[in-house]
Amino acid sequence: MNPASLPEVFSETVESIRGIGGRRALLFHKLEIHTIYDLVAFFPRAYEDWTSPMTIGGLQHGEEQAFVASVSRKPSVLRKGRFSLLRTVLRDETGAIAAVWFNQPYLEGKLIKGESYLFRGKIRRNGGTFEVQNPAFELYDPEKAVGVVSVYPLTRGLTQGVLRTAAAAALDRVEGQIPEPLPPWIRREFRLCEVAYAYRMIHQPESAEAFAIARRRLAFEEMFLVQAGLRMIKGRLRGMAHGIPMPADALSMRQMAEMEAALPYALTAAQKRAVGEILAEMARGFPMNRMLQGDVGSGKTVVAAMALYRAAMNGCQGALMAPTSILAEQHERTLRAFFSGMGGLPSLRVELLTGATRAADRRRILSGLADGSVQILIGTHALIEDRVRFSRLGLAVTDEQHRFGVRQRTGLTIAPAGNAEPASGAPAESPHVLVMSATPIPRSLALMLYGDLDLSVLDELPAGRNPIETYAAGSADRERIYQILRHQVEKGRQVYVVCPMISENDEGTDTGLETAEVTYRRFAEEVFPDLRVGLLHGALKAPDKTSVMCAFLDGDLDILVSTTVIEVGVDNPNASVMVVENAERFGLSQLHQLRGRIGRGPYRSICILVSDAGESIAKERIRTLCLVSDGFKIAEKDLELRGPGDFFGTRQHGIPDFRIANLYEDTALLGEVSACLDRLMEADPYLESPDNRSLIPAIRLHFGDAFPSIGI
Ligand code: ADP
Ligand code: MG
Repeated sequence: MNPASLPEVFSETVESIRGIGGRRALLFHKLEIHTIYDLVAFFPRAYEDWTSPMTIGGLQHGEEQAFVASVSRKPSVLRKGRFSLLRTVLRDETGAIAAVWFNQPYLEGKLIKGESYLFRGKIRRNGGTFEVQNPAFELYDPEKAVGVVSVYPLTRGLTQGVLRTAAAAALDRVEGQIPEPLPPWIRREFRLCEVAYAYRMIHQPESAEAFAIARRRLAFEEMFLVQAGLRMIKGRLRGMAHGIPMPADALSMRQMAEMEAALPYALTAAQKRAVGEILAEMARGFPMNRMLQGDVGSGKTVVAAMALYRAAMNGCQGALMAPTSILAEQHERTLRAFFSGMGGLPSLRVELLTGATRAADRRRILSGLADGSVQILIGTHALIEDRVRFSRLGLAVTDEQHRFGVRQRTGLTIAPAGNAEPASGAPAESPHVLVMSATPIPRSLALMLYGDLDLSVLDELPAGRNPIETYAAGSADRERIYQILRHQVEKGRQVYVVCPMISENDEGTDTGLETAEVTYRRFAEEVFPDLRVGLLHGALKAPDKTSVMCAFLDGDLDILVSTTVIEVGVDNPNASVMVVENAERFGLSQLHQLRGRIGRGPYRSICILVSDAGESIAKERIRTLCLVSDGFKIAEKDLELRGPGDFFGTRQHGIPDFRIANLYEDTALLGEVSACLDRLMEADPYLESPDNRSLIPAIRLHFGDAFPSIGI
């Protein structure tokens, strides 16, 4: 990171610290530490508490503990090839404990018989005797208080001692020169300590309380700066962008009421609310940037359809982008049904554009887009290719947006250029943007990840849905599972069987997984030769995928063996049973998405998760799914099992990594940060007041090169 906006001392190299040079400096570089700034900002990964040593008699098996004891036997070293074992016995007035060190023979000379040391390590009981392995130790000095000790991330060749000394030297060097980015009013109101104290105590905490105070402040600062940066970027983009206002006048209200009346079902209260929020925002002069979040099956598609209809009625074009061609084709069917004169509504020209669209069709569609005659375009990421130019794109919808890569995501959200160049002098128009996702993100996290993205939530399923019964099974239960499938097919239902992979890989190594191809053959040839079994996976040619999917949707297949290509969005209300093979291979949210393919009609729905895995996390995932049906709770559990970075792919969002804040654990603090920012942005959106100006260099420092051209 480039600390250009900090006092000069921060830019000095680590080599300027005594004892760091040559080979050792290279080791620091390996840890991405090049400057004094890097060192000051290199936080410990853990702390060891040496404040209250135990007596040997009080030690507990399995605990990481500190104790004072004397070396009661001269240490001995046993060598075998490159392996060595150093042993001794430690004693105090309450008892004795054996100590061993592996492959550190040089410690022999540092342990003097009769001397007392402070030891720290993991205590184990072997039969009747206690042992501590590889304990850290230092000479015990009753005069010298030993507090909490920092533990830094290391690289081979560096020790904790070297890092602690270097960090201490760097802190001394910058003493009194660390700029305070947080304005005094924020520190006062949110009870945050001063920056200098925070850095000192994060490296060298005097006590657990001091550490907690320092950590709270630094975590607050970090989340605050990231969020402030994102909000400013959004604000700038908003200030520059011209939306296409679609006023909510009497005519448009009547059109929307007509569409609602023409739908084959009544909207849920949640759907009505979301439509209302979306239309209200589309009526404004700056582009909407909204997420529609709703659990699988909550009916997001129809909400998008209503917004697209609104755009078309306003003389604009609408686009709907889906992550797979299967889903895009399904949306095409749904929207064509809505927009082909349903209930006397005007019909719209709907087209589908995917990678598989033939050249001639493609040309026809592209020219229709350019002359404005194509009103609704549905497709995969083929939609955001350069050659796709709209005449006037008014609304861009992305379905299942978490499934897209970052580049594609920003393609449709931040800069959905798409529109033809404006006549010279006229400002460029940006379409309204709606992203849809079944992955629930707590509001505070959404704010963190997307700045001021607005959120509409479908917190209600259409009436008449039956809960999905979910069961865990092992491969020994196969016969029983087959019986259930046959029984359901006899009742007229359809079945999904999901496998973790298409086929064994080329090397022919046996992974022991149920592959889609093998399962398909077993079902079609051995188990259910009398039933209609289909196979669907990503490696099929596009037309084959389409015909298999259509056959399944039309009821011409009883059983569909597939991979996760059906994970998102596929909607066949008659399919009521799902079997997931090797369920341990799937993530929690992914299994929830998968099972969302069933339970979409009025029938009893059964999901069977087959797994023989003994691994405890996998078992916990499966257990959670059997017990919980609420997607929000499942996402929370997923977040807990996986951690936020992994879950949200924060790295991919171009958001700086968090050095100290933990998006999962610090939710309460994140709430305070958001509240603070709301007030700040309300009062001083461009941070121009002298009170708040200190924030700007800090934000810039924080984002580094991630946002080179935002001009804040
Ligand atoms: P998702 O939110 O998972 O994308 P879909 O939009 O695919 O959900 O809708 C799931 C199913 O529910 C579809 O078959 C759709 O026709 C149906 N549906 C949507 N809204 C309603 C409603 N208000 N009442 C009844 N069925 C609905
Ligand atoms: Mg959907």
